[in-house]
Amino acid sequence: MNKNFDYIIAGQGIAGTVLAFSMIKEGLNVLVIDDKTLSMCSKVAAGNFNPIVFKRLVKSWMADELIPFSDKFYFDAEQFLNENFYWKKEIVRIFGEEQEKDFWLKKASNTDEGKYLSKTITNDFFTDIVSNPLGCAFVENGSNLFVSKFLDDFRNYFEKNRLLLDEVFDHSLLEIKSDSVTYKNYTAKKIIFCEGYKVAENPYFKWLPLKPAKGETLVVKIKNLETDKIINKGVYMLPIGEDLFLVGATYDWVNLNDIVTEKARTEISEKLSKVIKVPFEIISGQAGVRPSSIDRRPIIGLHPEHKSLGVFNGMGTKGVMLAPYFAKQFIGSLENNLPLDGEVDVVRFNGRGN
Ligand SMILES: Cc1cc2nc3c(=O)[nH]c(=O)nc-3n(C[C@H](O)[C@H](O)[C@H](O)COP(=O)(O)OP(=O)(O)OC[C@H]3O[C@@H](n4cnc5c(N)ncnc54)[C@H](O)[C@@H]3O)c2cc1C
Repeated sequence: MNKNFDYIIAGQGIAGTVLAFSMIKEGLNVLVIDDKTLSMCSKVAAGNFNPIVFKRLVKSWMADELIPFSDKFYFDAEQFLNENFYWKKEIVRIFGEEQEKDFWLKKASNTDEGKYLSKTITNDFFTDIVSNPLGCAFVENGSNLFVSKFLDDFRNYFEKNRLLLDEVFDHSLLEIKSDSVTYKNYTAKKIIFCEGYKVAENPYFKWLPLKPAKGETLVVKIKNLETDKIINKGVYMLPIGEDLFLVGATYDWVNLNDIVTEKARTEISEKLSKVIKVPFEIISGQAGVRPSSIDRRPIIGLHPEHKSLGVFNGMGTKGVMLAPYFAKQFIGSLENNLPLDGEVDVVRFNGRGN
């Protein structure tokens, strides 16, 4: 195995995987170190991206920039590995009130958001299965990444190309110099930590102001709902094949672990009962902890003192769409000294960690 790398990446969730592939595309040598049992967050993510925030019907942060960038990134990744894990998806919004419908139609015709919103109301969307007496409308240009497949496919690639150490990263073994790091027998210009919420156990970056949020989802079986669209009303329902749907998600800022709970099972199934008129069967549940930051923006950049240590984290609820765009930006900053967007630059929190 090559012992000299441009970058070591600690963590192979969405953040670490996207950063590693972005670096490989730029011709950089990377070593990925990951013990995949430490955080389930990326493995359980639904992988959806909705360009619209439903509460206020406004665009999701940077949707216009993130969507074309991510589409290209994931389609390129599919081609690179000769696999399939990314799809464009319509999202069905089921209306709960008449006012919501009026607001939608107004937004659809008059505003910049309108390009993502269907201009008419549909009244015949699986009405024998889905409870939608007021009708529904569609968000266009949504997308879905089959995250666990994306991670597994890249893990295989890293393994085959001898770019992976499948083990717990032990911070006490890291030797830091001003222009390089050494970990065991491996040397690199820099190490970038992509540990998700486990960054709280990283002695160099534990001061980052994360506000992690546990989330749970259920896999349920609903017969005859033959749609490829993501359905949304109180919960999202992502079709995953063979009559199965991934339904979620919950938020819990207290119990930060990957344990599946009865409470979440009840919460999700009660919400689902309000959308689905027919009996459904719960097949399984899963849980993970989202690495959200206090200002709900990614946290990217170098350590205030040790310039050979970096962080790529804080992806919160939207890792799928944020990671590709900001990985590219981070590489521009690392390799060519280009500026990082002030809203994501870790320097906004300097003073907390030194
Ligand atoms: C229920 C749920 C649903 C979600 N749905 C969506 C969605 O639809 N769309 C979306 O965009 N986002 C979604 N998210 C959010 C998304 O999952 C996160 O934004 C993303 O997974 C964060 O990725 P990450 O790589 O930063 O962290 P993680 O996924 O936590 O990855 C960190 C990796 O580092 C490893 N690691 C940590 N410490 C060490 C160490 N010391 N040594 C070795 N390895 C280590 C961990 O095991 C893990 O493999 C969802 C999250 C949850 C919980």
